[in-house]
Amino acid sequence: MERQFTEEIESLKLGDGETFRGEGILAVTKALLQSGVSYVGGYQGAPVSHLLDVMVQAKDYMDELGVHVEACTSEASAAAMLGASVSYPVRGAVTWKSIVGTNVASDALSYLASAGVIGGALIVLGEDYGEGGVVAQERSHAYALKSMMWLLDPRPNLATIAGMVERGFELSEASNTPVMMELRIRACHVQGSFTAKDNRAAAVSTRHLLDKPADFLYERLAHPPAIFPQEKKKSAVRLPAARKFVAEHGLNELFAGDESSVGIIVQGGLYNNLVRALQVLELANSFSDSRGGCRIPILALNVVYPLVPEEITAFCAGKSAVLVIEEGQPEFIEQDIATTLRRAAEQPELRSLSQTKLHGKDLLPMAGDYSAEVLVRGISRFLEQHAAHVDTSPGARWIDAIEASRARAAQLLGALPGRPPTFCVGCPERPVFSAMKLVAEDVGRPHVSVDVGCHAFATFEPFSQGNTLLGYGMSLASSAGVGPMSARRPVAVMGDGGFWHNGLLSGVASNLLNHGDAVLVIMKNGYASATGTQELLSSPPEDARAAAGGASAAYADRTIEKTLKGLGVKWLRTVNNYRVADMVNALRRAYTTPEPGLKVIVAEGECQLERQRRLRPQVAARLKAGKRVVRTRFGVDEDVCTGDHSCIRLSGCPSLTVKSSSDPLKADPVAHVNNGCVGCGLCGEVAHAAVLCPSFFRAEIVQNPNVLDRFLDRLRARIVGWLQPA
Ligand code: SF4
Ligand code: SF4
Repeated sequence: MERQFTEEIESLKLGDGETFRGEGILAVTKALLQSGVSYVGGYQGAPVSHLLDVMVQAKDYMDELGVHVEACTSEASAAAMLGASVSYPVRGAVTWKSIVGTNVASDALSYLASAGVIGGALIVLGEDYGEGGVVAQERSHAYALKSMMWLLDPRPNLATIAGMVERGFELSEASNTPVMMELRIRACHVQGSFTAKDNRAAAVSTRHLLDKPADFLYERLAHPPAIFPQEKKKSAVRLPAARKFVAEHGLNELFAGDESSVGIIVQGGLYNNLVRALQVLELANSFSDSRGGCRIPILALNVVYPLVPEEITAFCAGKSAVLVIEEGQPEFIEQDIATTLRRAAEQPELRSLSQTKLHGKDLLPMAGDYSAEVLVRGISRFLEQHAAHVDTSPGARWIDAIEASRARAAQLLGALPGRPPTFCVGCPERPVFSAMKLVAEDVGRPHVSVDVGCHAFATFEPFSQGNTLLGYGMSLASSAGVGPMSARRPVAVMGDGGFWHNGLLSGVASNLLNHGDAVLVIMKNGYASATGTQELLSSPPEDARAAAGGASAAYADRTIEKTLKGLGVKWLRTVNNYRVADMVNALRRAYTTPEPGLKVIVAEGECQLERQRRLRPQVAARLKAGKRVVRTRFGVDEDVCTGDHSCIRLSGCPSLTVKSSSDPLKADPVAHVNNGCVGCGLCGEVAHAAVLCPSFFRAEIVQNPNVLDRFLDRLRARIVGWLQPA
């Protein structure tokens, strides 16, 4: 990974009393070190990638503290790492993107939760839900419930987040249960500060080794017959211990308000949105985080599972109505509270609770992001029913203004075309989809199963390819049922990240075992690019990258090819992505060859984002030293361009755009290459492979020219001068 986290690493070293400043996920990283963690693992994914990325880069400092850091190959291997805390009194943390990562990790998590832990085990989940989310919209809460692991959902401010990391370990140890902490996108990226503490070196670590393995204790194995008492222990021992800890340490927060006949119970992670909504309604001010300033009493649940029944009943006692603000479906917390109130109301001294009306999903949407606007609408309805004297007109005016702005924008702008995301400029994956488009025109469109990763951008215009998307590394497996009933061979596309994560076993091994007949295209760009260009087993080694200089360093590694051959793949081609004609030929052969079995094309080209990061400092250093630097750019000769834009439809490069023609006889805009071009050559290659037109030219921009460059320049200028009329 070429991105440097120098500043972030320095902030991890802050000591007692110093002020830590940064974003939420970095606060978690710092708090892990303050908690005396012995090991950290995970699989990167937004919005929690930085936790592991920073720690991996801070290797020297981690070694100093004795913290073992592991960039795991999947969430399953990360979850299994927590096994260290089953037998040893060591604290460990793992991280990944949820819900997808939790799905992958769930087998190990079930066993971990059954066995229980003696050392604190914390799972930091990037809850990728709502606006900005990129995975199937589900909640991690379901996993907490079914495995009986505790779930933290801290208020999005850095002091609370860091504090909950430390408390999370203590809770885990007090109840012998792994603890999950969900952080939504906004919580991971919220900026703020907190007062740091010294980092704690763990008693057992890479610097202080265990002198012997743990005693053999059958009850620590999640295996029959131990699993039966373990299941009973969860509800009989661990749950009460967790509730006691949560209550005694005040992990949930109560914010008083003068409208005490009503109240709001909110997931901690939604607290900031709630306060914003209350501010719009003029029912809160900017001191609502800790110093009061909110008129409606709020119970903020920094621990959303387990709830503490006594806290719920105490908050609801004497209120005519309570609103539960819980994002996503189903309404786990609301149901939990309803059960608690119903049971409590059976007790004579708490009978009045039967009068407290419970609202939640009846007034708020069942699914989707609870933005401030959604909350203003829901809270207004709640107050109109149960506190009619509270003036909700400021909220109504605010919503009217938003709707008026939307209507005005629609009136002025009309229906705007969608602007889907796309590959980076010069991305090596784009040419493969251009080639697939060209081949489909010849031999017909196959069923295409796509995968998680940058190549999923090909599902958008102008490629619009992909019939299914069923998870990371699952594309080949997802076409297993389609192939046998299709006249044409199905095509699966996956990245090298997906290949190592799951594709090798779930896809390739399964296909070989079942003698499947399909085409697999593996985008070998050298990194897990979509998650932030982390390194893979097949990333080219550092020295190979340095030696490759300006060339694509991904070529330096053949681990994927060797693995495939070792497994028994017979039909295997490695093709340079940017040579579109070669890619077209390879695809056509794979689609049409009578040879049975799996056909694999390894599409090779280094991630352009990573390549540019690698080259930029090298180029800057050469320029500074006065050395010759050549940049390649492509352009379109507008005299030749007919303006049919077939090149744009085939390449989709954001740098390939349109401009008005200076020729008055050409009414249509002509193609134009803007300054963003990185000179990948795709547009020229596509024009050639598709036999489109000769408009494209390649130019070399020479900086710090040498004597020969200057001589050639003068010569060319003179010849052009002779050829051009005066
Ligand atoms: S990050 Fe790399 S692989 Fe992903 S779209 Fe950008 S250039 Fe392509
Ligand atoms: S050469 Fe063409 S496809 Fe490549 S970056 Fe430049 S404009 Fe885009």
